Amino acid sequence: KKIVIAIDGYSACGKSTTAKAVATVLGYTYIDTGAMYRAITLYFHQNHVSLTNKKDVEKALENIDITFHKNEKTGLAETFLNGLNVEGEIRKMYVSENVSQVSCLTEVRRAMVAQQRKLGKKKGVVMDGRDIGTVVFPDAELKVFMEADIYVRAGRRQEELLENGQLVDLSEIIENLKKRDHIDSTRAESPLRKADDALVLDTTFLTLEEQVDEVINQALS
Ligand code: C5P
Repeated sequence: KKIVIAIDGYSACGKSTTAKAVATVLGYTYIDTGAMYRAITLYFHQNHVSLTNKKDVEKALENIDITFHKNEKTGLAETFLNGLNVEGEIRKMYVSENVSQVSCLTEVRRAMVAQQRKLGKKKGVVMDGRDIGTVVFPDAELKVFMEADIYVRAGRRQEELLENGQLVDLSEIIENLKKRDHIDSTRAESPLRKADDALVLDTTFLTLEEQVDEVINQALS
């Protein structure tokens, strides 16, 4: 029986890497909700939308269309903003530096949660983010909450950025992860927290393979 798997946790704990691999093994659809908040942040940046102006934010949201399309070469889904592939751009540091401030906004969350629920309607979905098990799919059959040591997380993120052609200081990455975790877990609107029925997965000493096996075993049990 196909289920919904919700993966939440702090920034750069390996949520999306794990979720992608789990989806591939189980033949499920992977949905990266962080990419959606990142795409909105990119749009706001490009169009100089003021975060404090509710009307502007609402108008901007009406003009934003976020979709995912499979890259035929890699087999992986990529993020599109109003028809343009923004997969590379949304991973850049200037987006990471502003995304948590954007994802605090009530109007933004309302729009994203609605779209995420639609995307997850068909069972057989792995969705990762900050509020999937608590808000988007509180009835998800499997909820995982991922954690890891900050230095391990920053090191992994640095490697990812390097693969993306970006050389970023470890200290800058650590600062960004800490800041995002703080804003994400203290915001008024659906703050990041572990769902009561979520399984905690600390990936500090785990390989990707071990993380993936753990989630798959839980999904199949
Ligand atoms: O997952 P990722 O690190 O790409 O997410 C970027 C940011 O988007 C998070 O730091 C958080 O502010 C926001 N986010 C959120 N709710 C989600 C997913 C991401 O608020 N479900």
